[in-house]
Amino acid sequence: MKILVINAGSSSLKYQLIDMQKENVIAKGQCERIGIKGSLLTHKNNGKEFIFKKDMPNHVIAIQMVLEALTSKECGVVKNMEEISAVGHRVVHGAEDYNSSVLITPDVIKCCKENIELAPLHNPPNIMGIEACKKAMPNTPMVGVFDTAFHSTMPEVAYLYGIPYEDYKQLRIRRYGFHGTSHMFVTGEAIRYLDKPADQLKIITCHLGNGSSITAVKNGKCVDTSMGFTPLEGLPMGTRCGNIDAAVVETLCNKKDFTINETLNYLNKKCGMLGLSGVSSDFRDLTMGNAFDNPRNKLAVDIFAYSIKNYIGRYAAVMNGCDCIVFTAGVGENTPYVRYNACVDMEYLGVKIDKDKNENCPRGEIADISAKDSKVKILVIPTNEELVIARETKRIVNI
Ligand code: AMP
Repeated sequence: MKILVINAGSSSLKYQLIDMQKENVIAKGQCERIGIKGSLLTHKNNGKEFIFKKDMPNHVIAIQMVLEALTSKECGVVKNMEEISAVGHRVVHGAEDYNSSVLITPDVIKCCKENIELAPLHNPPNIMGIEACKKAMPNTPMVGVFDTAFHSTMPEVAYLYGIPYEDYKQLRIRRYGFHGTSHMFVTGEAIRYLDKPADQLKIITCHLGNGSSITAVKNGKCVDTSMGFTPLEGLPMGTRCGNIDAAVVETLCNKKDFTINETLNYLNKKCGMLGLSGVSSDFRDLTMGNAFDNPRNKLAVDIFAYSIKNYIGRYAAVMNGCDCIVFTAGVGENTPYVRYNACVDMEYLGVKIDKDKNENCPRGEIADISAKDSKVKILVIPTNEELVIARETKRIVNI
């Protein structure tokens, strides 16, 4: 059985076709610059790359091009579309409506549209991807997999902010959390690796990429997470400020003459590692070679690591201990300096990182970087959000 996974952004659309028998990717690619001049599709299969330059004025045309590439004589991997059993779509925000993945029906699309106010940048392109696919493959079952769903098990004490309860009810202002598919995937991998029942484990999963979030997982279920009402809360990230006193908004509006939209754009796009370093949002630029010759690069990365340590302490307190810390995503999998500084000097918690194992951690596989006498296992686990979406799609469609 083959499942197509779609992750649609406002001007991009990433896809993977996964054969579920061995869970291997048979083709993948992405459409870039949808709706913008110079759009192109990059399609990969069998280690070969094919680039198609053609105008893609909207997501419907983009999906058509993807399906043509997947079925073409030149670079295709299936004879016809009937070979694709189902499509799994990433949907960023499920609000309180979806605590699990769901078969997409007209009602689901309607509900996702109602949730646009909660995720104005993300849900609209996700919905465009779904509607475009529905047009091209009207008889193929489709499943929505929500970034927020894994966090739906948080208790009220973790997800409510200190604002009037009525405003939570009326305006739906609360912590939702994001990166749920990634936290769910690495949690499953960690449980399997540790070979213990989920209900005996307290795990802290650190998804550290361009966007970063940390989740406390007790008995296999999320009990708290660092991102909030939007992905702006939590750690300072590539370009997002992370936790900040809300009153800063007033100063930014007054002193920089910003509107609210400009302030949010600044907090989302000009802050974090980019703003602190003044150089880049990319951890490769900030950590590789002689990057630390610039003290602001080091300061930015140190603030990031400090913030991770902060959350580890906080979530160990919340769960009354911690058995395992997981690092994942672009930075978590590739930046030993961040992992080391987040974990060093935490012996009181039973956390002891092995410097050598951390430095020489193999890429692309699960690695244990904890010292022999560390009570807490420290693991590096490559994430695979597309595989979660494909597995969820298979589960829901039941084929
Ligand atoms: P993600 O959002 O998971 O794709 O992560 C993207 C970020 O991971 C990039 O912005 C880089 O900062 C970081 N990253 C990816 N590969 C490496 C690497 N080999 N070394 C250091 N940082 C990396």
